[in-house]
Amino acid sequence: MSQYDYDLLVIGAGSGGVRASRFAAQLGARVGIVEERYLGGTCVNVGCVPKKLFVFASHYRETFDSAGGYGWSLEKPVFDWQTLRDNKDREIQRLNGIYEKLLHTAGVELINGTATLTGPHTVAVGEKRYSAERILIAVGGWPWKPDIPGIEHAITSNEAFYLDELPERLVIVGGGYIAVEFAGIFNGLGVETHLCYRGDLFLRGFDRDLREHLAMEMPKKGIHLHFNTDVSHIERDSDTLLRVYTDTGEIIEAGQVMYATGRRPKTEGLGLDNTAVSIRDDGHLKVDDHFQTDEPSVYALGDVTGPMELTPVALAQGMALARNLFGEGGQSVDYRWIPTAVFSQPPMASCGLTEEQAREEYEQIDIYRGAFRPMQYTLPDLDERALVKLVVDGKTDRVLGCHMVGPDAGEIMQGLGVALTAGATKADFDRTIGIHPTLAEEFVTLRQPVEVE
Ligand code: FAD
Ligand code: NDP
Repeated sequence: MSQYDYDLLVIGAGSGGVRASRFAAQLGARVGIVEERYLGGTCVNVGCVPKKLFVFASHYRETFDSAGGYGWSLEKPVFDWQTLRDNKDREIQRLNGIYEKLLHTAGVELINGTATLTGPHTVAVGEKRYSAERILIAVGGWPWKPDIPGIEHAITSNEAFYLDELPERLVIVGGGYIAVEFAGIFNGLGVETHLCYRGDLFLRGFDRDLREHLAMEMPKKGIHLHFNTDVSHIERDSDTLLRVYTDTGEIIEAGQVMYATGRRPKTEGLGLDNTAVSIRDDGHLKVDDHFQTDEPSVYALGDVTGPMELTPVALAQGMALARNLFGEGGQSVDYRWIPTAVFSQPPMASCGLTEEQAREEYEQIDIYRGAFRPMQYTLPDLDERALVKLVVDGKTDRVLGCHMVGPDAGEIMQGLGVALTAGATKADFDRTIGIHPTLAEEFVTLRQPVEVE
């Protein structure tokens, strides 16, 4: 008999924690998981899933607006926020139930409450104490807001999912995934939406060509972009009116202000001081390639470790850890070819190196790109353009990066991610037969590299 209550005790039932615990239990380990808030974590409750449902909802406006070009005439469509919000809540409750069932079926013991580490092998949850041979920290992150006067009036994405009413006008501060995605959502749902970003171009880290293209397209849909604009303070005028003071001198009045200025690891009160776990300068937990912290019995993965805070990354890490600890071993996660999509409007997606990264790392880079009006926008006569782009190593012909802005970018990029992971060359793309007529076929018909000035 083991001296511990569990072989593995997981803190946090989000994407990473649930995946690790289920697989570990299926491999024969005695596993417990502690959750303080909601099963499925950020992704299911206040992240990917409700966000994507809202993206679907917000697209209807454009569909209704452009239906006339295809011969449809509609009464003026009416949108009801409360119906969308409540239907979304019901769907999430259903998913919470599925997660509970998944854990139960795998034989994972669910402990409700907030976990605090009391030592390298021990965890407290309320009055109860649990011991484990190994502990996994998968506590994720939490929205972070800068400390400016009036910040208490601003909401984050957490609250945006549960608003009682939609405001007429809303200001979003930030220029990352969440800011850009919610700008599209609120605008599509009929809210006058202003996005304030402190830099000259949002979505730092993505290919500059794509960022510029998206910055050109979003205003066409009615989104107000304010670049080089930071907020100095926020004042409340009344229950329904806030004033946002910017460093450009502009004052924007709005019903809600949403901050999307990044997330921080949720480690406060976790009891890390009772262990040798170290924290890196950026606040994320320090782990090695096998997710082991500086405390040998304690592991960590997912958003709490950064730097790619994406659900599929947390899932892959959870699976690798379970197999390494209780299965065949030898598992690691390859971070080089992780496809990602920003569900902006229009959407944007990327896999591999940006043009800027490739030019730094490789001697000769060829760029293939095309910008055009997608077919579905011709009859409604919409002025929206898509961009597709390939970054190729001129010496080996290997495709180093695929990038696009345009309808279904996320769906298209998932397939291209397989090609890049498998090491496809430009010649492989060229000999691939297209599917006509699609937007995706443009990726296999780009023939001439762009001339470099
Ligand atoms: P989480 O899912 O955050 O789970 C951590 C869990 O730990 C939570 O349930 C929390 O309650 C629990 N917990 C914390 N502390 C304790 C404690 N002391 N005791 C007990 N329980 C505790 N990623 C994508 O890939 N695609 C997307 O489209 C996408 N959209 C997003 C949209 C938004 C608005 C946000 C905020 C995130 C989005 N993400 C998306 C990111 C994705 O949600 C995260 O990368 C993912 O959820 C990380 O999983 P995790 O297991 O590390 O942490
Ligand atoms: P991001 O890190 O993507 O973006 C944060 C933004 O806030 C950046 O534009 C940053 O600007 C800005 N910022 C930071 N500090 C300040 C400040 N003090 N004042 C003004 N602006 C500031 O974080 P998000 O919150 O958007 O999302 C968190 C993570 O969740 C993402 O990184 C992503 O991994 C994940 N996610 C994934 C999604 C998907 O896969 N589709 C969707 C949503 C979230 P600067 O660039 O200048 O530093």
